[in-house]
Parts: sequence; C-alpha cells; structure tokens
Amino acid sequence: MNCIFCKIINNELPSYTIYEDEIAKIFLDVNPDSNGHLLIIPKKHITDLNDMDNLTLIHIMELAKKHRQILEKKLNIDGLTLIQNNGMIQDVKHYHLHLKPYYKEKQKILPVEEVYNQIIN
Ligand code: AMP
Ligand code: ZN
Repeated sequence: MNCIFCKIINNELPSYTIYEDEIAKIFLDVNPDSNGHLLIIPKKHITDLNDMDNLTLIHIMELAKKHRQILEKKLNIDGLTLIQNNGMIQDVKHYHLHLKPYYKEKQKILPVEEVYNQIIN
C-alpha cells in the first residue's frame, strides 16, 4: 500500500516522533499551523472515522489528553484545537487526529526540529 503514514510507522520515511506504543504513534506535522502541531495516528491502516473502532479511538483520545499536558508544560501553549478530517477534505487517507496549539501571543513558526527538541528534552 502506498500510504505515507504507513511508511512513517514502518520507518520507511523519517518523522519527528515524540511517542509510540503498539496502537498509535505521535509525530510533528511537517507543515505546522502552529509550533507543536502534532498528529496522532493508529498503527493499523484505518482510513477515517467510518473504519475506526472504539478501542483505538478511545486510546487516541487518551493520548490527546496526555499530550495536551505535555505541550502545556514544554511549549507553554494557551489552548489546543483537535481536528480530524474525513472524506474529500482529508489529504492523507490514513486516520490522523491533529493537535493544534494556540498561543495568546503570536508566535513565529519555528523549524520542526527545534520544536521537537523542546518537546523531548
Ligand atoms: P489532512 O488534510 O487532515 O489530511 O492533513 C494532512 C496533514 O499531514 C497535513 O497537515 C500535512 O502537513 C501533514 N503531513 C503530510 N505529510 C507528512 C509527513 N511526511 N510527516 C508529517 N506530517 C505530514
Ligand atoms: Zn496507512
């Protein structure tokens, strides 16, 4: 299957991964809307919400809660938007939940590698 997120899971493509377990992987979006923009994906190739099972969905939401706190601590975010596109508005056809940080003060978009180092250190 020619899926870029499956390739990231299989380490055939690089990613700035900040967390993974047997069910999901979390990495930085390469084209962030704000600093610390994360994607949470299931390791199984699930296209979108129609194919999603409840156990994986709950796990992904638990990871979103936990990583909100990590972003608050590491990047001092002031808010967080969760978005998950389906159908025609979804570019990458492998389920992914966007975690998009909000900052009270306008932030310059930093290189992804710099933000990655701030999160993991
Ligand atoms: P969506 O419109 O919800 O399908 O968004 C796809 C997201 O995946 C976009 O925000 C892209 O910047 C992001 N993206 C695409 N390719 C990669 C990649 N190789 N590594 C990290 N993020 C990616
Ligand atoms: Zn896939």
